[in-house]
Amino acid sequence: MSDVLAVTEHRRGDLRDVSFETITAGREVADDTGGELHLAVISGDVDAYAEQLNCEGVDAIHTVEYGTEFNHDVYTQALEQLVDDVDPAYVLAPNSVNGLDYAPAVAEAVDRPLVTDAVDLTFDGTLEVSREEYGGKVGTTIEIGEERAIVTVRPGEWPQATGDGAAAVSAYDADIDESEIMSTVTGFEEVAGGDVDISEANFLISIGRGIEEEENLPLIKELVEATDATLSSSRPIVDNGWLPANRQVGQSGKVVTPDVYIAIGISGAVQHVAGMKGADTIIAINTDPNEPIYDIADYGIEDDLFDVVPALIEEFGGDVPDL
Ligand code: FAD
Repeated sequence: MSDVLAVTEHRRGDLRDVSFETITAGREVADDTGGELHLAVISGDVDAYAEQLNCEGVDAIHTVEYGTEFNHDVYTQALEQLVDDVDPAYVLAPNSVNGLDYAPAVAEAVDRPLVTDAVDLTFDGTLEVSREEYGGKVGTTIEIGEERAIVTVRPGEWPQATGDGAAAVSAYDADIDESEIMSTVTGFEEVAGGDVDISEANFLISIGRGIEEEENLPLIKELVEATDATLSSSRPIVDNGWLPANRQVGQSGKVVTPDVYIAIGISGAVQHVAGMKGADTIIAINTDPNEPIYDIADYGIEDDLFDVVPALIEEFGGDVPDL
């Protein structure tokens, strides 16, 4: 029997969606290994987090009450001890900025192999980790020969765990050596472009080079406002400085998983698709029917965006701006 330990994540008082996705991934592996699923909840309001995380399929929750926000040294020390005590076969952590910060340090401390950015996990006597290389052009599978490993899972690849669980919640008495804590959080500063996190949005309207010039952006912004969507873009829009970097979808931008993603004047290059293929419904507005965006779109409007977008704005009760 091989247990799984899933590490959860929160930021500024809220659990992140990837916590619930990591639970799903962990449950799937634990079902295959015949083991239990344990969760680690570290720092912040751990009791409130544990209550929310107590989803169907969770067997045990270990809380470590220490500090408020993520701290590399606290997480690394707490997880090193927790991994030693719980002794799970596999530790799953989000492939996030935080996860990629502590997972290598924990792997080194507990002497286990680390595989990052999993998009699928299968277990058949040994754990196999699927990854994507070269912006999704090449798929690779890593067979973990070892019986113990740490794996980070890509946000947006697993559905979020739901339902009520009956896991026992226990306060884990981690022995945190304060003299080894080398950094402290002194405050938060939002990145330019406000507090929008497109990876959390349910409805994205994304704009690409088809918009032609910055002066045409108000047209899209009006549609975004009329439909109560969130604005995102392909990379050229950010490279041109028309939108801030936190709006970019794709391999070198953000991975998004909205319910609806409308791609306007976006060709569907592999680096862009790597960031949005997890959207539930994809709608493309593009004049060229041969563009790859149509390979993954559920619906398409093969027409000029400068005709389609004003019509949509009117349909949703907005005011079409003069360009
Ligand atoms: P284009 O490919 O130029 O497509 C514009 C589209 O608009 C065309 O399909 C055209 O038919 C359509 N169009 C034109 N006029 C109209 C009109 N009037 N009405 C309707 N449709 C119209 N890209 C990303 O997006 N995100 C990334 O994270 C990213 N990372 C990258 C990382 C690396 C290492 C590299 C090498 C590239 C990366 N790219 C990324 C760039 C990527 O390869 C593409 O160049 C980019 O996605 C293209 O953006 P686009 O679709 O907006 O532009």
